[in-house]
Amino acid sequence: MAKILEKCYQYKDAEKYMDLGLYPYFLPINKVIDNKAIVDGKELIMVGSNNYLGLAQNLQVSESALKALKEYGSSTCGSRFLNGTLSLHTDLENKLAEFMGYDGALAFSTGFQTNLGIIPSLVTEDDAIVIDQYAHASLIDACMLSRGKIFRFRHNSPTHLRKVIQQAKMEAEGILVVVDGVYSMEGDIARLSEIVPIAKEYDCAVFVDDAHGIGVLGKNGRGTVEHFGLINQVDLIMGTFSKAFASLGGFVVSNERIIHYIKHVSRPFIFSASISPANLGAVLGALEIIKSEPWRRERLIEISKCMNRRFRDMGFNVGSSETPIIPVIIGDMNTTLMMWKKLSEHGVFTNPIVAPAVPPNRCMIRTSYTATISDDELEAVADAFFRAGKELNII
Ligand code: PMP
Repeated sequence: MAKILEKCYQYKDAEKYMDLGLYPYFLPINKVIDNKAIVDGKELIMVGSNNYLGLAQNLQVSESALKALKEYGSSTCGSRFLNGTLSLHTDLENKLAEFMGYDGALAFSTGFQTNLGIIPSLVTEDDAIVIDQYAHASLIDACMLSRGKIFRFRHNSPTHLRKVIQQAKMEAEGILVVVDGVYSMEGDIARLSEIVPIAKEYDCAVFVDDAHGIGVLGKNGRGTVEHFGLINQVDLIMGTFSKAFASLGGFVVSNERIIHYIKHVSRPFIFSASISPANLGAVLGALEIIKSEPWRRERLIEISKCMNRRFRDMGFNVGSSETPIIPVIIGDMNTTLMMWKKLSEHGVFTNPIVAPAVPPNRCMIRTSYTATISDDELEAVADAFFRAGKELNII
């Protein structure tokens, strides 16, 4: 066998957990009924999805997807640059720019690709990136794909950010400060009201990945940047369509000149097929609901506060979450996997998160909520956590 392939045969990490019956990944969901997933014939209440507003099962969204599918077919079969721009793409970009309060928007085929498409376009070998240590994997990979120098600052620490920017300034011409709006594992919010003024003081541009914030936070659902009243003070905001928007794809908003530049130089944008019609239709449908049904955001915030308090009252560690992502921090990997298994036996679908997604001693059960989940279902989730926590002596 070729040397290069030997590692595949030596890889045994997953088997170890499969043998113990504690392997939690790639479980096929046979059916989805509202907020329940049927897995292996068993009905589980879903608190492990990023379907924040409950739009993935919304009839209006599905009908909008179906209409686009019927009108434009199943694929664009091409890049936005050439044959792959439909009027649906430009309609969506105009609507997103208007919704977010920026003058331009650009849609990519996934959220991950959006980050890969933006950061290397802006950051050259003379520039630097100053990035939060807990930034999402797609941002880290995007930084590595750029040719700039990478500097990390301590998670959500404005004081350390300032120090790191001063250091970066000595080595680079332009600086891009990169943060998540809402951190995807811990559910805490970037301290933008302090981060943005520091960045401006040193002539840095700010890029916020708000995959988990848009549709969820802010008076109008514009996300973390709106939550802090910083629309147009943050230079670029990216979002994904795979969470609140219940589809697939990603986008960035910024000023028209920056969008114009990115769309002419970004390799993941140019050399990849554009978002498919059905996915575009779904996003367009979801955007209308995000604008017209604020009750979904309000209910989601109410649920998040309630579950956060309930977990704390039971004695669980939920870190510093302020959003519908509530981590139940367990500690070591084995106990976390056992907790996941018990929760599943007690009828709840959750996501166990282990290293390298989190530090090895901070393994967690990540829970995330959907606006349409019922009070009875939440009660059942809390009960399952209580029972599992007691059974494993965690609480
Ligand atoms: N950024 C963040 C913060 C994310 O959590 C994710 C997805 N988990 C992405 C980007 C990538 O988005 P997508 O899944 O749409 O590719």
